[in-house]
Amino acid sequence: QTTPIETDVVIIGAGPAGLFAVFELGLLDLKAHLIDILDRPGGQCTELYPEKPIYDIPALPVVTGQKLVDQLMEQIKPFNPTFHFGEMAAGCTKLPDGRWKLTTDTGKELIAPVIVIAAGAGSFVPKRPPIPGIEAYEGSSVHYAVRKMESFRDKSVLIAGGGDSALDWTLNLAPIAKSLTLVHHRDGFRAQAHSVNQMRELQAAGKINFHVASVKSLHGADGQLHAATLLHHDKSEHQIDVDAFLPFFGLTIKLGPIAEFGIGLHENLIPVDTAKFESEQPGIFGIGDIITYPGKLKLILSGFHEAALMAQAAFHICRPNEKLRFQYTTSSSNLQKKLGV
Ligand code: FAD
Repeated sequence: QTTPIETDVVIIGAGPAGLFAVFELGLLDLKAHLIDILDRPGGQCTELYPEKPIYDIPALPVVTGQKLVDQLMEQIKPFNPTFHFGEMAAGCTKLPDGRWKLTTDTGKELIAPVIVIAAGAGSFVPKRPPIPGIEAYEGSSVHYAVRKMESFRDKSVLIAGGGDSALDWTLNLAPIAKSLTLVHHRDGFRAQAHSVNQMRELQAAGKINFHVASVKSLHGADGQLHAATLLHHDKSEHQIDVDAFLPFFGLTIKLGPIAEFGIGLHENLIPVDTAKFESEQPGIFGIGDIITYPGKLKLILSGFHEAALMAQAAFHICRPNEKLRFQYTTSSSNLQKKLGV
């Protein structure tokens, strides 16, 4: 059990709305922690369309999903937010002192007077491959994300999949694993060409094994894998030693535990008022695609506006005895100092 982290604001979701919220909160001296189940910032922009151009961000005639997120990360740098990637916000309870305690699926606890739900369409959750009994190994020998590379040192690692995640982790884990086997159902990949080329080089050098095959079954005991049976196209099978199995079969979106937060969801969306973007629970705010109000548009620019108004209201909760003075970034030396300009 680790000690709870205390902060001003906990933001659930590091999509564009959650990222820009860090900026608006930061201008008001409010410190933010962000939680995202993904292993990187950007939400839908980086997960679903990193290379697609967006044409309706004010003053950016064209910007890709990835570039927009890179720019947001640059913009919020002065406020030094803390990211908790690869973790799902799992529970939220009110403490006797009026603050909220948010727990993640890894058991981390964060305490803050304000929670901002910027969860978009919900959590991106990995697809479980249809291998009998795989659940028994999840979390111990089967992992859908790499939280700590070191935990794969000197292990016999099996990776399945043909996209960027499968290829990236093949390249990253090959040098530290005892052995690394990549399996994919065809001899072609949906990953960046240079990753595929690097993988082929490792294969040619005998540093990894690659099989056009599928994982038919897993063998082990008490959650610890020992081996896996691979099924080849010609229906032949062979067994390999495996300590850790990483399947990367894509993601689906599920609303997840937010449904249990007691915030009166309406058709899986959080109803909010449009003055503060607060939910029916005082101190729990919502911004971005996850919220509903009359006239709501699921656009990135709406999330930015919602973040600005949320921050003003959050300030009064976090600093009840302080006055909030409206200031422009162009003319306020105070704001410019915070921005380090
Ligand atoms: P998201 O981007 O969905 O991010 C939410 C984040 O919250 C995710 O990373 C998710 O993993 C995380 N999360 C959710 N629940 C939890 C939990 N319990 N614990 C931990 N993490 C959690 N919009 C435009 O304005 N212009 C466009 O041109 C445009 N083009 C698009 C093209 C495509 C193909 C798609 C799919 C969308 C497009 N959009 C566009 C919509 C835009 O991407 C969304 O409006 C925007 O991403 C919403 O931002 P958000 O921050 O609210 O949520």
